[in-house]
Amino acid sequence: MNYYDQHLHTYFSFDSEEHFENYLTYQPEFFVSTDHFDLKNPCSQFKDDIPDYPAYTKKIAELSNQVETVFLKGIEIGVVPGQEETIKNYLNQHSHDLKLMSIHQNGQFDYMDDVVLTKDKFIVAEEYFTQMNQVLDRFHEGDILTHFEYGLRKFDFSVEELMQFETLLSEIFKKVIDLEMAVELNAKSFVKYNNAHLYEYAIPLYRSLGGELFTLGSDAHVAEDYRLGFDPMSALLKKHNVEQLVVFQGKERIFTPLPD
Ligand SMILES: [Zn+2]
Ligand SMILES: [Zn+2]
Repeated sequence: MNYYDQHLHTYFSFDSEEHFENYLTYQPEFFVSTDHFDLKNPCSQFKDDIPDYPAYTKKIAELSNQVETVFLKGIEIGVVPGQEETIKNYLNQHSHDLKLMSIHQNGQFDYMDDVVLTKDKFIVAEEYFTQMNQVLDRFHEGDILTHFEYGLRKFDFSVEELMQFETLLSEIFKKVIDLEMAVELNAKSFVKYNNAHLYEYAIPLYRSLGGELFTLGSDAHVAEDYRLGFDPMSALLKKHNVEQLVVFQGKERIFTPLPD
């Protein structure tokens, strides 16, 4: 099996209008969209953004009859401390093959909102990683920890500055390893927010603690971005002697070679 993109958005996300058919022009062997699930989302006036599961199920069943591609069900779950039980109950009733775990917001603001620019960047980073660390204690449903530097994107952080959080980051990665979750290399981080250097630091840190599971995600919201950044992200992993990626298909984890 070849690796396939494990972070994609469609019109089932509040912030994408893309259609499955446009992604399918790439004729992937497997396809999994990971649409946004964010409760009390500050980006949507604090309403719950939940993908329409019956419509999603129906859509991929229809597409399965039309093309060779194998469809899997995915979701990107944004978690805020305190929401864990509610989300677990939802997931128990709505099965998915792939569950991304993201920290996007804190109940007051999204970490990509301009309001973070009025705050001290070290305080924001501390709060962001502390929230991630807390969520990992109470929410064990995720397969992949996405874009670990999302909360830092509005600022410029050097590696030296990020290293101030090494103790906290080590705790986070240890929990990720214990939970057998993978760490995602996110194309938006690499291509749009110029944070490749932060991954350059985090990858060996995670590996030094025993971490071995990696995924690549374009985080595409439009089909043109399908497999975005796979070249530089693969090259960075290769540099750190990582030779394989993992894909999640329900309870199964399958290792695939790094794409060239
Ligand atoms: Zn995200
Ligand atoms: Zn996403």
